[in-house]
Amino acid sequence: MTPEILISEVGPRDGLQNCKSIMATKDKIAWIEAEVRAGVREIEVGSFVPAKLLPQLADTADLVRHARTIEGLTVAVLVPNLHGVKAAVEAGAHKMSLPLSVSETHSLKNLRRSHQQVLAEIGEIQAFLADIPADRRPHFEVSLSTVFGCTMEGVVPESKILSLTEKLVDLDIKDIGLSDTTGYANPAQVKRMIRAVRSVAGADRVTGIHLHNTRGLGIANALAAYEEGITTFDASLGGLGGCPFAPGASGNIVTEDLAFMFEAMGVNTGINVAELIKVREILARALPDETLYGFTPDAGLPKGFDCVAA
Ligand code: ZN
Repeated sequence: MTPEILISEVGPRDGLQNCKSIMATKDKIAWIEAEVRAGVREIEVGSFVPAKLLPQLADTADLVRHARTIEGLTVAVLVPNLHGVKAAVEAGAHKMSLPLSVSETHSLKNLRRSHQQVLAEIGEIQAFLADIPADRRPHFEVSLSTVFGCTMEGVVPESKILSLTEKLVDLDIKDIGLSDTTGYANPAQVKRMIRAVRSVAGADRVTGIHLHNTRGLGIANALAAYEEGITTFDASLGGLGGCPFAPGASGNIVTEDLAFMFEAMGVNTGINVAELIKVREILARALPDETLYGFTPDAGLPKGFDCVAA
């Protein structure tokens, strides 16, 4: 039975980049391997940003090279620019994701670049990728970040979001993701935004969403996205990387809770939830100072619960 949806584990990137402690490469490898054994098929293992900015992710190239040897795993990374794309291609990543912040203030603060500059860079990336033989060319996604609101600009006008989407379509970006960077989204807005972006880009290009659980609406937002036909969901084991500005809130949506929701609904994720919960032991040992979140792991699986594919 083929899984209907893809849960993409982003803990080794989004989770760890928000952690104070640095996780040893060997522990990251044990974590990645254990998740694959539990049925996870895609993992964002790191980010090709300068090591001095994010020392937690300085081993990304090594992780990509190792993860590539794991059968059945799609190895994903975040790339901030062409330089990162070149490093990702050299290491052998299968999938790369570049954030385009729809809030220009956020874009200038985070990447120190205007929309025009980021779009120009995306054009250069497309040209670079076009020269790579198709069978070795990684999949390239541009993720519209702060699409549900920005801590600096507040709600970004939909017209702005749609004109950026149009430019991505013009640049022949085949995969456009939606990202709730700030944890501002609500389920009604998630549905509206998916429809709006698809009205410009077409449904085929808009299949993935990246959600945070900052205000406790992460799982509700994921369900809303699923009902709109979204098939790829980012999540982080143990909701790692809780936001320092929202005490008690996990970072990304919790992979264990998300997998449990879908499996309990009869939606095949390919993941064995009981096995997935056990992977937390690796995190707890390697990062003793970090809080691990998740309702399902705390409460335990319901009596008689079985995964769809079990
Ligand atoms: Zn994130």
